[in-house]
Amino acid sequence: MPGPIYFDHSATTPLDTRVALAMDTAQSKVFGNPSSLHSEGRRAYSLVKDARTDVARLIGATASEIIFTASGTEADNLALLGVFRHGRESGHLITSSIEHPAIMETCRFLEQCGVQVSYLPVDEYGMVSPPDLARALRPDTRLVSVMAANNVVGTLQPIAELARITKEHGTLFHTDAVQSAGKVPLDVNRVPVDMVSVSAHKLHGPKGIGALYVRHGVSLQPVIFGGGQERGLRSATENVAAIVGFGAAARIAVSEMADEAVRLVGLRERLLEGLRNVLPDAYLIGHPFKRLPGHLCLGFSGRESESIKLLLKLDEAGVAVSSGSACAAHHASEPSHVLVAMGFDPIRARGSLRVTLGRFNTEPEVDRFLEILPHAVDTLRPVVSYGRIAS
Ligand code: PLP
Repeated sequence: MPGPIYFDHSATTPLDTRVALAMDTAQSKVFGNPSSLHSEGRRAYSLVKDARTDVARLIGATASEIIFTASGTEADNLALLGVFRHGRESGHLITSSIEHPAIMETCRFLEQCGVQVSYLPVDEYGMVSPPDLARALRPDTRLVSVMAANNVVGTLQPIAELARITKEHGTLFHTDAVQSAGKVPLDVNRVPVDMVSVSAHKLHGPKGIGALYVRHGVSLQPVIFGGGQERGLRSATENVAAIVGFGAAARIAVSEMADEAVRLVGLRERLLEGLRNVLPDAYLIGHPFKRLPGHLCLGFSGRESESIKLLLKLDEAGVAVSSGSACAAHHASEPSHVLVAMGFDPIRARGSLRVTLGRFNTEPEVDRFLEILPHAVDTLRPVVSYGRIAS
């Protein structure tokens, strides 16, 4: 009996055993508070220091520019709320119309506080256009925040160009790189970003630990106040084992990223090619090649509104995928704001299947998925779509 297949790496990734080992060692051998001056505390401090260097290397930063947070969500909140002083300072913020809720909901909050927010449109591939950003910049624009890769459709944004346009205007640039960090390179020495959000559990690290890169000289107000840890930007006793896990995950990602990206693109293309043979009604959503290496977002013509049923059928068959995004599971019946922004009609915007591959996936798993998927799709009732009855 073959084992289950996990194809939902954009939701979260299994912990790499090398990361688990590093965390176990930290957890069982070092219990000190990194702020304590005695040797037990200094041992913990030293572990955090090394991990900070490893996480910084993920994006070419220096260790002192890394602020550990409890999640990617918190890193996003810190970037936006920090610039606008929790909405006490007004001004203009530009973001895209396809951001993760960690950005979207923070923008909604800031709007209630009087900050003006512009949401850049995207094209049919989910891509922001640099000229649109240039046109949206205003004298009072204080921050631009555009995600590096979209969590629903996998499209990569032209971050280098967006950051360059923003900096020429003298404005801060933040990118939510939670989906792309450790999968596609981002070097803060070459791309003029001021802040970058990352999260360990998307790169085979532990959950509940993220980081915000804050370029030297950028001034932020904290979201959490207290003992002054993390340069005063994120008070709280550090979660040492999780930070150690993040460091290990970052180290592995840096050393394996190039080869792993090639391998994942190979698996992704094998899956797509196979789909064309077994399910000609399937179509790819998002950019055909400017996308995360292991990310596929699929629609099935005429059966879009059945995607949750399809997901559950696949789950019964031992395959874990998601519809849209894990966060969208709380709003499963609502159309995805990402697909709506890409111009999908409300039926199609409800019906994507997100298949995301990761480090431990293999060719035989892809081939098995290609056998299972057509059976699962066949069990679905054809539905009305684009004004016709699908056969
Ligand atoms: N930003 C993006 C693009 C994401 O995909 C996610 C998680 O799915 C987050 C932010 C939130 O990260 P975390 O789960 O660490 O809070």
